[in-house]
Amino acid sequence: PAEQAGADHSAEQPPEKANTADKWSEEKKKNYTERKYLTVEKADEVVWVRARVHTSRAKGKQCFLVLRQQQFNVQALVAVGDRASKQMVKFAANITKESIVDVEGVVRKVDQKIESCTQQDVELHVERIYVISAAEPRLPLQLEDAVRPETEGEEEGRATVNQDTRLDNRVIDLRTSTSQAVFGLQSGICQLFRETLTEKGCVEIQTPKIISAASEGGANVFTVSYFKTSAYLAQSPQLYKQMCICADFEKVFCIGPVFRAEDSNTHRHLTEFVGLDIEMAFNYHYHEVVNEIADTMVQIFKGLEKRFQTEIQTVGKQFPCEPFKFLEPTLRLEYTEGLAMLREAGIEMDFYILDKYPLAVRPFYTMPDPQNPKYSNSYDMFMRGEEILSGAQRVHDAQLLTERATHHGIDLEKIKSYIDSFRFGAPPHAGGGIGLERVTMLYLGLHNVRQTSMFPRDPKRLTP
Ligand code: ATP
Repeated sequence: PAEQAGADHSAEQPPEKANTADKWSEEKKKNYTERKYLTVEKADEVVWVRARVHTSRAKGKQCFLVLRQQQFNVQALVAVGDRASKQMVKFAANITKESIVDVEGVVRKVDQKIESCTQQDVELHVERIYVISAAEPRLPLQLEDAVRPETEGEEEGRATVNQDTRLDNRVIDLRTSTSQAVFGLQSGICQLFRETLTEKGCVEIQTPKIISAASEGGANVFTVSYFKTSAYLAQSPQLYKQMCICADFEKVFCIGPVFRAEDSNTHRHLTEFVGLDIEMAFNYHYHEVVNEIADTMVQIFKGLEKRFQTEIQTVGKQFPCEPFKFLEPTLRLEYTEGLAMLREAGIEMDFYILDKYPLAVRPFYTMPDPQNPKYSNSYDMFMRGEEILSGAQRVHDAQLLTERATHHGIDLEKIKSYIDSFRFGAPPHAGGGIGLERVTMLYLGLHNVRQTSMFPRDPKRLTP
């Protein structure tokens, strides 16, 4: 019924719902064009596009539509005396915003740039229009409000959308150019992480998320019922990535969900986030691993700069910020001097490492500093002054590991298989865990980790 629904443009017919994806005519397939390719090179050609109606404005005998595909949009003109009938203009004007339509039209070069669209040099003169899926007329939020910079809202009294409304209606909010860019860039971070570490000879591993012992201590772990007993949701892949090192995988990484039952209602804490984890055996000094991890971050920053300029600029229109700055090799400061420097002058760099934390503030599996047992061979990495990674050399001696676990009051019985992994020879190793949402947030200079989690989980939100 699709062809019927569309072929008749008469005003008596309301925009019909039609299930048509598989019923495209040969003609449609031949001329189908993606929005981003609608440029002057296509001038005077007849094309088909499938898109959402972003906005619609009827004026007398013509109707202007802005058609959107992801972050690309183009102006379309339905006009009596051009290519459309009077009924067709009326039909077009009645299509609700966000409906999905198929449109056939001629691409025309325009004299004056269309500033409000991404495709500024052309417009589409519409010949036929089909409604493929109509949106309900009342939208829970307006996309143009959802991309308005806060300052414009405050200074000019124009509407913006608050965070809860966005998150309650996340599917609509994710359609905005800003969200499309944020999650496009986030996908790029994972891709670059994978590419860089694979290039460095690491193996990508998968670790269990349902586990029998809390990897980071018992305080903030989710318990789940597990048949006749109970289990935990992994707070990190820590114990398992180390066991992979004991099993001779040498250099491993993984990307996966981690869970924290922390009642932290802050801009940087989620109860479920995506961990980017690394663990590597080393030969001489744990700084070999620190350098590899720092270089991985640098390769990610460089890749983002190179491949994601459009996304960075799109987000910057709504959330302006200074471009991300980093040095190569990365600035590394010792914890004690670093804190003093930060306090005094502030740090010019957006990305830096603090090394050698006090042993007391780190988890039981952290290697003490052999020169000064009050300190440890551990480090954090920071972006724009906020922590994005925690890491350390790990204890690889079963005896010392047992002592450290006991000192932290950990039930040895529960981590027996982990400790046993070190009894049959284990290479010195170090690693770290990175929070994907924090890296995305801080790279783009955003201010809330919920903006960079597609469907965020926090102490007060479990849906959508
Ligand atoms: P914080 O001190 O900020 O609470 P943490 O020291 O508990 O973090 P780790 O357990 O060391 O963090 O986790 C490693 C990384 O995982 C952090 O550097 C951060 O990027 C990310 N991360 C940790 N907890 C959260 C969280 N609740 N929500 C989002 N990301 C997190």
